[in-house]
Amino acid sequence: MKKRIIFATGNENKMKEIRMILKDLGLEILSMKEAGVDIDIVEDGMTFEENAEIKARSVARVLTNDIVLADDSGLEIDYLDKAPGIYSARFAGEDTSYDIKNRILLDRLEGVPEEERTARFVCAVAAVFPDGTVSTVRKTIEGRIAEESAGYNGFGYDPIFYVPEYGCTTAQMSPEQKNELSHRGKALRAMREILKEKIGGDI
Ligand code: IMP
Repeated sequence: MKKRIIFATGNENKMKEIRMILKDLGLEILSMKEAGVDIDIVEDGMTFEENAEIKARSVARVLTNDIVLADDSGLEIDYLDKAPGIYSARFAGEDTSYDIKNRILLDRLEGVPEEERTARFVCAVAAVFPDGTVSTVRKTIEGRIAEESAGYNGFGYDPIFYVPEYGCTTAQMSPEQKNELSHRGKALRAMREILKEKIGGDI
């Protein structure tokens, strides 16, 4: 039977990016919904890796013949002891808009000098294979928290995440440019190499 890859997300934007990056593997790539899985997953891990593995294992328990992938990502701000971190989506309340979340973070960093505004986006991707083994990768993009929001592309914390080498925030980059250097793009490409090896060995 031809192996399928199921990605444990309901996010269509993520699916587009994943399909683009993994297309040369020649495997069918489906979202959880497309695979007919409708379960609630409690992300109660203490690290990005643990949460990615929890999501992937939850779906793999239902789809035992497939390779199940999941990611977990967030923003770490050094001055705030790496907050919001694994709580990025829930920071200041799950239903609070990113305009407000970003405003709160900018206020907390008011007057903090440039060199202490270091931050990174982190992405962990976990793959659970039909034999029960798991592989995990973690990648980051380093930057700093801007003084003010800038840009309208992307989502979430992009308008306040400034990348010095490019002289702009990730919300001022095109989607293609962001995928090239983003935590998620890098983590997915690293996972693609792991999958290629596994597929070469017939998984
Ligand atoms: P999750 O990986 O879907 O759980 O997302 C975690 C949260 O991290 C998102 O809801 C955003 O708040 C934040 N985040 C992760 N990646 C990015 C990004 O590329 N840009 C902006 N915010 C991000």
